[in-house]
Amino acid sequence: MYKYCLDCDWHAGTDEGLTEREVSKAAIDHFVETGHTVDSLRLPPPIVIEN
Ligand SMILES: [Zn+2]
Repeated sequence: MYKYCLDCDWHAGTDEGLTEREVSKAAIDHFVETGHTVDSLRLPPPIVIEN
C-alpha cells in the first residue's frame, strides 16, 4: 500500500516499514491536519465509459 498527497509532498507506504494500518492512519491524520486530498495507488482506476 502506498498513499500520497495530491496537494503537497506528503506520502506514506508500507515500503517504509509501516503496516497498512499505520499507512491508513497516517493518511487520515494528514487529511485531518491539513485538509489535503490523499490518494492511494491501491485504488482501482476510474471507470471510463466510452461512446
Ligand atoms: Zn498534503
